[in-house]
Parts: sequence; C-alpha cells; structure tokens
Amino acid sequence: SQTNESLMQRRVAAVPRGVGQIHPIFADHASNSRVVDVEGREFIDFAGGIAVLNTGHLHPKIVKAVEAQLHKLTHTCFQVLAYEPYVELCEKINARVPGDFAKKTLLVTTGSEAVENAVKIARAATGRAGVIAFTGAYHGRTMMTLGLTGKVAPYSAGMGLMPGGIFRALYPCALHGISVDESTASIERIFKNDAEPRDIAAIIIEPVQGEGGFNVAPKEFMVRLRALCDQHGIVLIADEVQTGAGRTGTFFAMEQMGVVADLTTFAKSVGGGFPIAGVCGRAELMDAIAPGGLGGTYAGNPLSCAAALAVLEIFEEERLLERCRHVAAKLTAGLEAIQARHPRIAEVRGLGAMVAIELFEDAEHTRPAAELTAQVVARARDKGLILLSCGTYYNVLRVLVPLTVEDEVLERGLAIIEACFDELS
Ligand code: PMP
Repeated sequence: SQTNESLMQRRVAAVPRGVGQIHPIFADHASNSRVVDVEGREFIDFAGGIAVLNTGHLHPKIVKAVEAQLHKLTHTCFQVLAYEPYVELCEKINARVPGDFAKKTLLVTTGSEAVENAVKIARAATGRAGVIAFTGAYHGRTMMTLGLTGKVAPYSAGMGLMPGGIFRALYPCALHGISVDESTASIERIFKNDAEPRDIAAIIIEPVQGEGGFNVAPKEFMVRLRALCDQHGIVLIADEVQTGAGRTGTFFAMEQMGVVADLTTFAKSVGGGFPIAGVCGRAELMDAIAPGGLGGTYAGNPLSCAAALAVLEIFEEERLLERCRHVAAKLTAGLEAIQARHPRIAEVRGLGAMVAIELFEDAEHTRPAAELTAQVVARARDKGLILLSCGTYYNVLRVLVPLTVEDEVLERGLAIIEACFDELS
C-alpha cells in the first residue's frame, strides 16, 4: 500500500519545488473536521484547506447538491449557453453583500481571478489605472495580484519587477507599531509623492489580513478609507476571499466595519470545497465593461454553483453564524488560557472564528519567533493536528477550523496546541 514517504518521492520528482507543501502528508479521505491520510492515520483539520471549508469536508448537503447537478450537466460555458444556478447564485450573493444599493455579481473560478477582475472593473469604471494596496496584503499569485500582494519572498522573489501603477500603503497593526493615523498618513503620502488621487482607480484591502497574519483593520480605519475614496472618486475594493462565508461571525466581515465597499471579492468557503469565486458590487460599476470583457471558460461552473447554493442554505438551516460565534468564543478562550502560561505569545487576535496567536522569541515581543512557530506546526502534526502559520515574519499560528467542528474535536485540537507549547518552552 501507499506511504506518505513514497508519494512524497514521486511528488518531488514530478512537481516543481515552487509548489510548497506545509505537511509531508497525502490525504486519502476526509469528513467534517477530520482527514485520514494514505497510511490510515487520522488528523484534526484546523487548516480547512486554507479557509475553504467553513462548512467542513464533504458536507452531506453539498455532496447531495453536487450529485444532483452532476446528473444534469457539468459544463456549457455560461457565455455560450446560460444555466439557472449561476443566476440564482448571483442573486443570492447580491442580497448577501453589504450595501444598500443595486448590485451585480460576476462569477469566476479562483480568488486571484476575482481580484484581477475587480481591478479591471475599477479601471474601466473610473478611466484610471492606479491601485493602492497594503503592506502584508495577500491577493494572489497571478501577475497583477502578485503586484498587489505585499510580501516579496516567497511570492514574487526571482520573478523580476511586478506590474506598475501599484502603490503600497501601511496596513494598520498596533502590535508592530503602525497606528491608524500612520496608516492614513501613508496614503496621503502616496498622493503627495507618487500619484495624484485622480490617477488612482481603486484601493484594495482585506478587512482582516489572511496570509499577512490575521491583522484586523480597525473600524475607524475603514471609515477613513471610505471617506478618502468618496472624496477622490476612488473605488473601494474589499477582498473578502479569506474573511467571507461566515468566518468572522457575519457572512462578510465588512458587515462589522461601519462602511461598505463598492466592490467585494469572494471565493474559498463560498464554494464549500468546489472552485468558485466572484466579484459583487455596485451595478453601475459592474456594468462598466462591455460584453465580452468578462468571463472565462469554466467561470461559474455549474457544479460549483450548486455547491455554493448549498453552502448558503447550510448557513441558514444550521444557523452557522451563531455556531461561528460559539466556535470563536471557545477558540479565543482556549488560546488565551495558553497565552496566560506562555508569555512568548504576544496576542490572541482576530475577528469571529478567524483567530490567531503571534509568537516572539522574548517576553517583550521584539523578536518574531519564526522557528518556534514552525516547531509548533510540526509537533502539532505529529500529535494529529493540522495547523497553518502565516504573517509577514512567519510567526503567527492561525486557526481556520470548520465552523461545523464538534466541540469535542475543537477541545482536542486546543489541547494539542497547549501540549506543544508546554513541551517546547
Ligand atoms: N485574496 C485573499 C484575501 C486570499 O486569502 C487569497 C488566497 N489565500 C486570494 C485572494 C487568492 O485566492 P486563490 O488562491 O483562490 O487564487
């Protein structure tokens, strides 16, 4: 039978090293918040395929919806022959995305593609080309989104300069000394030093940074961003690819930010494990691009639409937002209890069930502890828990466990994290 080691050898020979792998494990099958590898070992999944499985692995209602669609049709290309699930999903997303105005939605396949298209739409609607993005941002690995992504190594290192017209502002982060005032000033500085506001099409921001370390944008900052955008006719894009689909306690994180974005990108958990993403926004902006300028062969694939419609139903039927707040409270309390005994944990932070801890070498929290973070990830895996790290300094441990996780599994996961810290200190 197969072993992880033999499969890893084949992987190394057949797949380029640029496709990294956090855990040397090959999954065989999974259910809700548990994954079984090819050697029959079971793991608790606190990674959720990087924020894709808010409804867990193989939710029975998603399986059923996709099976039903599988027997009708799997592909026509929506631009050739349309099908209802695409339209129904857009209607439901239009109703879900915050903003008291007429909306339209474009469906694509990946989060990167959603961000690419949001920028295209903002450019077409404003007749401007510039985009402001933030330090520590992650928006994808395609060329434009790679330019927007605010971390060179490992994402764009060795690939030469990224597309022009992108300006970088400071994401507010109290722990690392970036106040809301400083962050706002960094945008004003761009307007003074680099480009006039009338050349800026959009400002793109993650309401909570995902790969950047689960940094939460203070509400006050979002209010200021909105005011700046209104003042200068700039499109505000909220990248909710990681924060969306209920992770933060509301279906979209912007619901908690006091202001609304003009365009919202979504992906990941909206599809419950099937590839779907999109851009939703003000109808007049969404219509700025002429027929033929948007779309893609597989964009809004029928199977993925069926899965996404099931995800939305599950949120209603199983009251998953309430469940999210329960998981959030348990996670936060559990991690705070660990922090109380381990001073190298500087912060337990996040929004809703998007929770992380940041680790330092010293109790004064001056030197980020990338190595300790990697050690906790490896040790937790050896104890049967799949964790992910993130952060500009590789020193943040994040939890993206399914919101459908059983209490007992959640508690076991937290106990493993605690044991790792006890053993490593
Ligand atoms: N935006 C954000 C906020 C993300 O977290 C990600 C993925 N980590 C992306 C965009 C890119 O999505 P994808 O990997 O589906 O292209």
